[in-house]
Amino acid sequence: MIFDEIGPVRIEELYFPRLGFRAIVVVDSVALGPAIGGVRVSPYVTVDEVVRLARTMTFKNSIAGLSYGGGKAAILVDPRAQRLEEYFRAFARRIKDLDEYIPGPDMGSNEDSMAWIYDETGRAVGLPEELGGLPLDKLGATGYGLSECAETAVAFANLSLQGLRVAIQGFGSVGKATARFLSEKGAVIVAVSDTKGTIYNPEGLSVNELIDVKISTGSVINYPKGTRLLSEELFSVDCEILIPAANPDVIHKDNVEFIKARLILEGANIPVTPDAEEILYKKGILVVPDFVANAGGVIMAAMEYEGRTAQEAFKKISEKIKKNTALILERSKSGHISPRKAAITIARERVLDVGRYRWI
Ligand code: NAD
Repeated sequence: MIFDEIGPVRIEELYFPRLGFRAIVVVDSVALGPAIGGVRVSPYVTVDEVVRLARTMTFKNSIAGLSYGGGKAAILVDPRAQRLEEYFRAFARRIKDLDEYIPGPDMGSNEDSMAWIYDETGRAVGLPEELGGLPLDKLGATGYGLSECAETAVAFANLSLQGLRVAIQGFGSVGKATARFLSEKGAVIVAVSDTKGTIYNPEGLSVNELIDVKISTGSVINYPKGTRLLSEELFSVDCEILIPAANPDVIHKDNVEFIKARLILEGANIPVTPDAEEILYKKGILVVPDFVANAGGVIMAAMEYEGRTAQEAFKKISEKIKKNTALILERSKSGHISPRKAAITIARERVLDVGRYRWI
């Protein structure tokens, strides 16, 4: 567990005896402002994982230049549970007075969940449009940011986006939007996966058809014009850009050697273990870390909290992600350090500089 000069300042484990479920809330840092971070819904999340995810949010908000700290929460139930609204409302009532934490959507939660939390506490981002929200997932804020990140990062690998082959793990909110924006920019999506497996076609997959197949059959593997592979095989397909956009720790020391991509953009949070990231760096494969590459969602959420429009939010996402991707990749190159180390140094400095003036 990380305890250092940044945080975490609060770790709470909650139990709800009447409904029989647990929840976790971690506020990593409030140096830059109240902590914004998603509420993950999964029976398998651990305190340690939430702590690591909260730190990622601290760095993400810091490097994006937002006036928010980092936090994260988890509700330990199956996201398909019948009584989801009851769980969310019970959770929200318990965190009502924890006003240093502003909940947002994450895996297993969505605009409706945020509306329930908002109704109970008066605080949440990622709200439905009817409540003044900018629907992050519908608009594809994070996927848009990843595509802008790709546009900047490919130049550092001496590539250009036109015709580049892309493999994406996960075809949920982030994976889908990333595929859509990247194919609009001329890249070719050759493989995507979900929990059921991978669909692969070296000639390219149609993103619109994939979306239809996922909606109508529940899985991308039913896309007819491609080869079915195992979920895990996505990581070893021939491609230039690999985008993990599902779970933590999916690229690790046992599968990292099979990766053929030249560039990895971390769509998910902490999808690559630290040892695997080090191996990739030594092999010369560029990895844009999560809190730089997938910041589109939180940038839009912060804009929503400040009452801005979707158009303003997209402009801000593009500006910030392009600038930060270039900044960290340049620092990495000139300082002979990994992109993550470069990004952490910049993000950490800002938190500590401002933190000196806070009482915490
Ligand atoms: P989601 O629940 O909408 O989609 C997750 C997708 O991953 C689903 O298609 C699921 O089938 C797939 N998946 C799960 N396990 C898999 C496996 N083992 N192999 C292949 N596919 C698998 O979630 P999301 O909102 O798209 O978030 C994905 C990741 O991105 C998470 O790590 C989340 O923290 C991170 N993230 C999301 C946002 C956002 O705006 N939604 C912002 C930043 C980071």
